[in-house]
Amino acid sequence: MKPIVLFGGTFDPVHHGHVAIAQAAADAFDPQKIIVLPAGNPYQRGRMPLAKAGDRVAMLSMAMGLGATKVVIDKRELHRTGPTYTFDTLRELRNELGEKIPLIWLIGSDAFAKIDTWKDWSMLFELTHFAVVMRPGDAPIESSASADLNAMISTRYRFAGATDVDKSPAGCVILLKTIPPKVSSTDIRARLENGEAIRGLLPNTVCDYIEQHRLYLPSS
Ligand code: ATP
Repeated sequence: MKPIVLFGGTFDPVHHGHVAIAQAAADAFDPQKIIVLPAGNPYQRGRMPLAKAGDRVAMLSMAMGLGATKVVIDKRELHRTGPTYTFDTLRELRNELGEKIPLIWLIGSDAFAKIDTWKDWSMLFELTHFAVVMRPGDAPIESSASADLNAMISTRYRFAGATDVDKSPAGCVILLKTIPPKVSSTDIRARLENGEAIRGLLPNTVCDYIEQHRLYLPSS
């Protein structure tokens, strides 16, 4: 059964790194679709996203080339009151999509190395596979993860190309062999605050949108 890729993030704003890893997942898994889930209130950040939900969705739609691809944006986390927990999202999606369909949560190495700080983290491995992309400059997961997380993932590793993800609904950790661009939303926001150039770090359409709507300026 073809899997569904799930891609959560704050996307404040979306950039070339996000687009590159979504493309890498599309190439590796030939999924039925990729569901992008912008976060409402990412509780671990201690602050709300700077751009409004509507602006983040508009930028995501441009960056992910909706219509031409299998990518859809799911706004459920934006409509939820209170903190955004991936566990709640995954449980809902699993109920809606059925027990059998392979789900693959796409995630960068920085976020995955800290996944044991997420709510009900060990249960996440019952609900989905994980596809991990190493962010340039990040240390290998084994050296930055806690003992508990290393114990959880040590028997779950698979390598893209030799995976059995389409045969099971959840539980594997797949390392995607791709080198994404070294770009982050934090860096883009900082550049905009300092009046520095951002072109080349994110799609031109998103760049134009940020300029037109005067997002991430010091006063906003
Ligand atoms: P911020 O700098 O605000 O923390 P970010 O650039 O990490 O943002 P998020 O929206 O938080 O972007 O990221 C969503 C997901 O995409 C996370 O799993 C993150 O690890 C991953 N990701 C973001 N940028 C990259 C990149 N350049 N390479 C690989 N993965 C990335």
